[in-house]
Order: sequence, then structure tokens, then C-alpha cells
Amino acid sequence: MNPFQYQRAADAAGAVQALSPHAKVLAGGTNLIDLMKNGVERPEKLIDINKIALASIEPLANGGLRLGALARNSDTANHPLVRERYPLLSRAILSGASPQLRNLATNGGNLLQRTRCPYFMYSEFPSCNKRAPGSGCAAIHGTNRMHAILGASESCVAVHPSDMCVALAALDATVRVRGRAGERAIPFSEFHRLPDDTPQLDTNLKPDELIVAIDLPRSPYAAHSDYLKIRDRASYDFALISVAAALEVDNGRIRSARIALGGVAHKPWRAESAERALAGQNLSRENFQAAANEALSGAKPLRENGFKVEMAKRAIVRALTSAGGIA
Ligand code: SF4
Repeated sequence: MNPFQYQRAADAAGAVQALSPHAKVLAGGTNLIDLMKNGVERPEKLIDINKIALASIEPLANGGLRLGALARNSDTANHPLVRERYPLLSRAILSGASPQLRNLATNGGNLLQRTRCPYFMYSEFPSCNKRAPGSGCAAIHGTNRMHAILGASESCVAVHPSDMCVALAALDATVRVRGRAGERAIPFSEFHRLPDDTPQLDTNLKPDELIVAIDLPRSPYAAHSDYLKIRDRASYDFALISVAAALEVDNGRIRSARIALGGVAHKPWRAESAERALAGQNLSRENFQAAANEALSGAKPLRENGFKVEMAKRAIVRALTSAGGIA
């Protein structure tokens, strides 16, 4: 691990003032410290934000909910209002990592997790455009069973690792960030980036910005939602495929649908054309299968992960079937 300065911020304004392109924010540290030990992250300064009052979870006047950036994943998943209004989110969080990690990991940090592509995680691999821009992508012709089937580029085929973010994408969350120019709100769909030719940038967060909260809008999906995660080990693993499915049902018909996928792309992947295809339809396996086919119509699998296309389709059908409560 490289030498670094340590600074504890007393409040959000102090943390923002301390931020720079060579600094990293320390919250739970569950991903960052591993990457520092491996020499992947080499910050000159760590800004510890754990003493800042950003851990509350509070209802919003519009019927939504504000999740503090420093609320721990366990506290968020088990909060009564999250369980009541957003069971999809609670289930997604609890499917990620281990209880010990969830007790330490924060909501803001969860959004900033970096890919678990092994060529990125271990600095002894020389070719990784995300870790060393311009060095190539070892995964494109290497081991790529876990990698992307949607939205990838010639520069990077990595996938985003978070479960929580897949649910937040489906629920149309907003990320509230604070920088030197003040606060701004980023729609969740615009927070994470596709790789294009700049895979070193995972998000659209600016170097002087700190995540302070995640806002959830009022949701019509609490009664009909599910999070399905398929992984190699049920006890603890990242998703091969995950699906956040939510249906607004009115008299047996789908008024609106939300489908987001994990394990398929560089960001949580919203299947919006499939959602539109379901609107106004009956709850039926045939309609769910048509939506699944639509969701994967643009898939471009790699040498080792063609199985993900069919797996994703089946997972979508299963998640929608469970969300819709049909046999
Ligand atoms: Fe690096 Fe992305 Fe290629 Fe993995 S997929 S080796 S993270 S550039």
C-alpha cells in the first residue's frame, strides 16, 4: 500500500473542500481498502467522512424516502419504511455481500463500488483500460464468463457489481451530491456510465463532489416486486444475472412496469423497451416472455458468456412471475 495522508472531515462542507482528483473518500472502506492493498487505488489522501451526520433515513413530503449516504446497508435494508414501501430495495441489499460487510458498507459507497473484473482487481495483470487507460482490455479475449453482454465497448466489457444499484435503477432513484458549486440531483440512470472509450470513469460524479443522499420517489410498486439474483455460490457471490422487477397492477392489468438487470453491463441496465411492452398487458407468462426477449434483443455475448442471454431471459420471466403473483 502506498503512503497517504489521512484527514477526518467534521462536516460535508469540510469534506468537499478537502476533495481533489488525488483524494479518496473513506466511508465503510469495504471496497476501497482492498483496492489500495492490491495497488489498484493509490490515493494521496483519504478523507474519512464517518463522523459526518449523513446516516439518517427520513420520509419526504412527497411520499418518497431519503436515504442518507452514510446509512449502513444493513440499517437501510432493515428500516421499517424501506421494508414497507420499497421491499424490492430491501431484498436487493440483503442479497449482496455478507452480513458483516453490509454492517459496514454505506449507501454512498455501494454506488461507488468498482468492478470485480479480475484483470482490474489485480495490478499484476498489465492490460486493463479501466486501471491503466490505453493498456488494452485483457478480458475481451481472455476470461470473460462474468462479463457484459449489453452496452460494452472495445475498451471495456466489465460489469457493475452492486445489487442495491439494480433496485435503485428500477425505482427511479435520484442521487443527491454536494460540490463546491452547491448541491445537485442526478437521476439514477445518469449516475453510472457505459464504458465507451473512457472506462476509467465509472460515474458522472465530479472530483469535488460528495454523495450526500439517495432519494426515492413515492412508489406504486410495493405490492408487486421481486429481486432475483443468480450466482455461482448462493452464500456469497456477485451476480451472474440479477433482475429487479416491479409491476403496478390495476384490475389484473399491468399499468406500468420496471425491469432492471445486474451482471450484464457496465451500469445497472434498465430494460425500458421491455417495460413499455408490458404496459397495458395482462399478467401472463407469454407477455413476460415477450418482454424478456425484448430486453435481451441487443445482447452481444463474449466467447465465454453466451449462456447469460438465455439465463437473463429466464430470470426476467421468473422475477416478473413472482412480482405479479401468478403461478
Ligand atoms: Fe479492465 Fe474493463 Fe477489460 Fe476488465 S473488462 S480488463 S476492467 S478494461
